[in-house]
Amino acid sequence: MTVSFDLGGKTAIVTGANTGLGQAIAVALAGAGADVALVGRSSMAETEEAIASAGGGRTLTIKADLSTIAPVQDVIDQTLAWSGRADILVNNAGIIRRADAVDFSEADWDAVMDVNLKTVFFLSQAFARHLLAGKQWGKIINIASLLSFQGGIRIPSYTASKSGLAGLTRLLACEWAGKGINVNAIAPGYFETNNTEALRNDDDRNAAILARIPAGHWGRPEEIGGAAVFLASPASDYVHGVVMPVDGGWLAR
Ligand code: NAP
Repeated sequence: MTVSFDLGGKTAIVTGANTGLGQAIAVALAGAGADVALVGRSSMAETEEAIASAGGGRTLTIKADLSTIAPVQDVIDQTLAWSGRADILVNNAGIIRRADAVDFSEADWDAVMDVNLKTVFFLSQAFARHLLAGKQWGKIINIASLLSFQGGIRIPSYTASKSGLAGLTRLLACEWAGKGINVNAIAPGYFETNNTEALRNDDDRNAAILARIPAGHWGRPEEIGGAAVFLASPASDYVHGVVMPVDGGWLAR
């Protein structure tokens, strides 16, 4: 038996694919042979160009604001209308709000929980309903965080959402593993994206974070792609319910 990382003939859906980790994951999945539906509220032009210039994969842009669950069924329907199939779902879109816990607002609580957890669940549900109805193989990859394992500071709704996402990953794996759907998560460490701009601009926090990363550098978005291809491919068919750190060794310290 040969190990396969080939995604040829598969269709992936990646949320928040216009920038950062979502963009890098979309490029990596396309590089492994997948067609990719790029889902989000901003232009996907940069990602489309990156995939085209790497020579791979058809893309479809689906406009969707994932701050509510209103568009979730449409995301699945548009993908199916375009390619006739949906095999891989990457729940990457996410937001963060920073304030001391004593000052944290209800609006910042709800906004983060809605995008990072509620929409992830209902999009996964819509995706799984399609797969289960057709008795099809599928892969769900949730983008969790080190805050799925640790507490952090000044990001209460983010930590709650990402810790909740780790639990949700395990629950969905338990319900769907026997039905041919792999549900797993990637927990990125500290990567150079918009999400961490405030930290990288704070000299003290930047130095403290760098000093703790055994690999000695902030993650570059392209360093997330290998884990995503693994969890999307037949190579991970017996992997269910894991939250896989890709963190330069942070959690090992
Ligand atoms: P990012 O550059 O800020 O990207 C976030 C993505 O989510 C963007 O594409 C953004 O779209 C999209 N998004 C946010 N709200 C949305 C909404 N309402 N509807 C549709 N799309 C929405 O940050 P990133 O670092 O790449 O983050 C990607 C994921 O990785 C997030 O889940 C984040 O929590 C997680 N993560 C990142 C790090 C890190 O170090 N960077 C570490 C751990 C986990 P717009 O550009 O249109 O806002």
